Amino acid sequence: MRNQLFSTVCRRLTLSYTLLFGCLSLGAFVLVYVHIAHNLNKQTDDRLRASIREFSRTREEDGRYGLQEEFSREAAATGRERIFFRLLDPGGHELVTSDLSAWQKLKWSTISIPREGEQINRLKISEYNHPVRVITARLKDNFILQTGMRDDKDEVLESYRETFSTAFFLILTIGGIGAYIVARRAMGGVLEITEAAGRIAAGDLEQPISSGNRGEEIETLAAMFNTMQERIAGLIGELKTVINNVAHDMRMPITRMRGAAETTLTRDADKSTYRDMAITVIEESDGLVSQINTILELAEIDAGLTIMSMEPVDLARIVGIAVELYQPAVEKRNIELTVQGIEQSLSVTGNLNGLQRLLANLLDNAVKFTPAGGKITVTLAPESEYAVLSIADNGPGIMAEDKERIFERYYRADASRSISGNGLGLSLVKAIVLKHHGTIMVDSDSQSGSSFVVRLPRKQE
Ligand code: ADP
Repeated sequence: MRNQLFSTVCRRLTLSYTLLFGCLSLGAFVLVYVHIAHNLNKQTDDRLRASIREFSRTREEDGRYGLQEEFSREAAATGRERIFFRLLDPGGHELVTSDLSAWQKLKWSTISIPREGEQINRLKISEYNHPVRVITARLKDNFILQTGMRDDKDEVLESYRETFSTAFFLILTIGGIGAYIVARRAMGGVLEITEAAGRIAAGDLEQPISSGNRGEEIETLAAMFNTMQERIAGLIGELKTVINNVAHDMRMPITRMRGAAETTLTRDADKSTYRDMAITVIEESDGLVSQINTILELAEIDAGLTIMSMEPVDLARIVGIAVELYQPAVEKRNIELTVQGIEQSLSVTGNLNGLQRLLANLLDNAVKFTPAGGKITVTLAPESEYAVLSIADNGPGIMAEDKERIFERYYRADASRSISGNGLGLSLVKAIVLKHHGTIMVDSDSQSGSSFVVRLPRKQE
């Protein structure tokens, strides 16, 4: 089971910040503690050394008696129980001392005496509740000066420790509360986005997340989220339209097939009526199958499931074949279909079947929308690293507002409602062009008709 204490990012942040405050203040405390302890020792030692220098001078100038007076005066000024002074002969015997009545418990023999120079000792005496710091210095004539002082450092440090404990507790409490507020503020945007995700999950795609002033990362996340929300709403809308169109487009042929069957059954039909009904059913079924295939093909291309095998394809050759295939249809309607630029081969790296579908759809539209007696011109030409295919007709043209939308699924301009079709052809053409890393453009006006221009990258030699 996951630890409840660390279950939210907000709590984790709060705990991390509090821990950080704790570690930082503990580190600062240790630093200051070591510094203070060192300085206190230094101060005591400096003071004791200064006394030794002073007494050495007094002894030289005023002799032992002068030194005795100086010992007494200095001890009285600092406190006889706080400080002591001793002068010893070279053998370590006491000659002159300050008042040692408060220092009876101190075992003088435990203080080591240096052969030369000075020595510092720190003595812990069980009878006293504080240690003693002693400096013993051997003078030039081998006599010994010794001075010791109560070491109050531990008391100062103890009070520092107490103060720090209180401060540490306060830092942790205030720091913890502060960290919680900061963490909550930082996570506020995330909570809002989580709520929005919940709303989307419940089906509400309308309400965007307000970007607010929550910091760059959260604002970017909110903006991305809004874009995603818009896209989902768009896709759902598109899906609804597609479903409506599919339902509509399928209902019509099925209704027609049913109508034909019904009429044939209810009438006293002869063989030729049955034949006509069979032809109608076959034609309608073919139309339906072709439409379903196109829908599946588009869905597969969109989902990236169609792996189009790419190979060198001579566009000039397949354009020539396609144009030839359409000749009977155009002749029937007295349309002049001309082709230019297919005398020389022009190769692209592409999918043969895909490119044939592309040509068929564009030619189909041109033939469909060009009135009888009209003209269609197919042109193929190289243009730097592209092969440019243009299929131009002198049909009714496409209105400016429709030009943007004719490549959308099921989009059919109003003017073409009377002409058969399902609005999927150009979507498929565009998907194929994109698979070939090419572009498609339409140029059109009501006087000169429409011209579809496809640019495909040429095969690298
Ligand atoms: P369909 O031809 O089945 O309607 P398409 O996707 O092939 O579907 O074409 C979409 C729309 O683009 C057509 O309904 C028509 O309005 C317009 N269109 C396509 N080609 C032409 C053309 N050559 N001339 C005029 N309009 C065209």
